[in-house]
Amino acid sequence: MRLILLGTPGAGKGEQATRLSKRFGIPHISTGELLRREMEERTPVGRRIAEFVNQGELVSDEITQAILEDRVRREDCAAGFILDGFPRNLRQADFLKEALHRMNAPVDVVLNIEVPDSTVIDRLINRHRQDDTPETIRHRLRIYRKVTAPLIDYYDRADILTRIDGDGSPEEVTQRILTSLARTA
Ligand code: ADP
Repeated sequence: MRLILLGTPGAGKGEQATRLSKRFGIPHISTGELLRREMEERTPVGRRIAEFVNQGELVSDEITQAILEDRVRREDCAAGFILDGFPRNLRQADFLKEALHRMNAPVDVVLNIEVPDSTVIDRLINRHRQDDTPETIRHRLRIYRKVTAPLIDYYDRADILTRIDGDGSPEEVTQRILTSLARTA
């Protein structure tokens, strides 16, 4: 099973991806995590990544796509995977489609986790990650609306989008996801 989780920063993609990963025994691939790991290594590419992330900007497609493709080609992805944070714009979505097509492994379902703005801001402010300052949060939400939200339509037209009400406890949201996956399977 190959899943994509969509949703604003703070929608709970990471939390749900972790839970679904355990449930289905397939890897949770967070591009944010992969990029942070690269930053910690302080390699030249890690330093370039940090410049984007710390401003709340998207990291370049070139870097993100290379990291992502490397990861989905690993053996542990053979039975499926859960993407959290990729794709984040239409170019990345086209890239992903091509890359997975070459691997003969198309995406099955895209879950859009929907949460009201007020909830999202509360959650992000309480998260205390280094790049979660009020300013970068506002900036990331703006970028989300402008370049990431069009993916909802993109996947809706491809007929693989499922909308999930993300306002609730993590358990409740997981339950809603499982119910809807059972219906689409
Ligand atoms: P959040 O969902 O709160 O933005 P993430 O951990 O998913 O948190 O992402 C953190 C940062 O990593 C983003 O603000 C962005 O700079 C970078 N990033 C993650 N995924 C991508 C991607 N697919 N393309 C470009 N940048 C990305």
